[in-house]
Amino acid sequence: MSTPVLDLPESPSIWVAADAVDQARPRSRQRQLGASDLVCERRAAYIHHGWEPTDHVVSPAAMLGTYIHEGLTTAARKEFGWLVEKRVADATIRGSIDIVQLDRATARRLPRRLRPTVPADVNTLEDIKTRTIYRWDEVRRYGATAGELRQVMTYVRLLRTGGFADVDGQRVLARLGPIDIQRIRMRFISRDSGEEFIQEFPYDPEIAEEAVWWLERITETEHPEQAPRSFYGPGIDAQCDYCPFATACWGVPAPGRPVQANIVHNREDVAVHLADYVDAHKDWAEADRVKKFVRKAVDGTEAGTYGRNVLGWRGEDKEVEEPDVRAMIELFDDLQAPIPMVPDAERMVKALVTAGIAVPTRRVVKKGSRRIEVKAAPR
Ligand code: SF4
Repeated sequence: MSTPVLDLPESPSIWVAADAVDQARPRSRQRQLGASDLVCERRAAYIHHGWEPTDHVVSPAAMLGTYIHEGLTTAARKEFGWLVEKRVADATIRGSIDIVQLDRATARRLPRRLRPTVPADVNTLEDIKTRTIYRWDEVRRYGATAGELRQVMTYVRLLRTGGFADVDGQRVLARLGPIDIQRIRMRFISRDSGEEFIQEFPYDPEIAEEAVWWLERITETEHPEQAPRSFYGPGIDAQCDYCPFATACWGVPAPGRPVQANIVHNREDVAVHLADYVDAHKDWAEADRVKKFVRKAVDGTEAGTYGRNVLGWRGEDKEVEEPDVRAMIELFDDLQAPIPMVPDAERMVKALVTAGIAVPTRRVVKKGSRRIEVKAAPR
């Protein structure tokens, strides 16, 4: 029986709908600096100075992260009675904390409906982060990034000094006053497998202070361009690929040039960048020697766990099934089918040269990859 062919209209991408909903979220329309913006100084400065975004960014990966967040925090609220998505703010910065798990003494000061099912031993602030498989190894090895630490320490500082923000939906919480958060829990979730990785640490006033200082540098600028870029731009850092201020920050690229070329104006700029290149190359070359040495040193070692690392081998010899050309020629011969012939340019050139006949040529343009070469200038 043949399958009926349905004449369906082309289906729109479902991310179009997801993006429209995302844009309507209060968070997306928020123009005050948020704790989650403490990642790039330049971007924070655009927000602080009230600039309108120049780029409409659609990031399905980020939206997936939002959906996972919502599902997990809702479940934690219903099942564990944890406080979720609670707001904090001072005159400069605002934030929405994923989870606060109160201790017994603090929880007793709340109406029963707001108390956790199981109180924490100490007041705990939790932040959920999702990661793709590509960054999972990095999470397990190094935990939270510097920007994420600034974010959570800022939340804790705001809770320890002013408590929950006195806004609709959480006035009862605001009446608790300052909350003495003792523990921070970063809960990383793999976006691919759902695996959890938990990192816990106490409040660190030094990092919180550093975040305040970071913020002061932003608020002291008179123009966003006085704040340095914390990343190397689109095509290099994902933060820039999905930055709503990328065009304001880097401009529009000249035809055929990367956008980073916009910020090089004179010979001094080139000299500075080449010096960076040489420094980076020196570090890279040293690191590459270490990697090559280790690769040789463990050559005879079985795959497995050694200390904090897992050794694996990829690309080792293995048997695979592939078409047997000789057998196919015999088969084609038996079937008296024509055998496809591909001209072998290399053999033809060799034959003509051997016969002393000039090889005919034609001019073609070959697309080359333009490579940089930096050497020491003569003194
Ligand atoms: S494009 Fe990159 S460097 Fe520029 S503001 Fe955005 S994140 Fe920062």
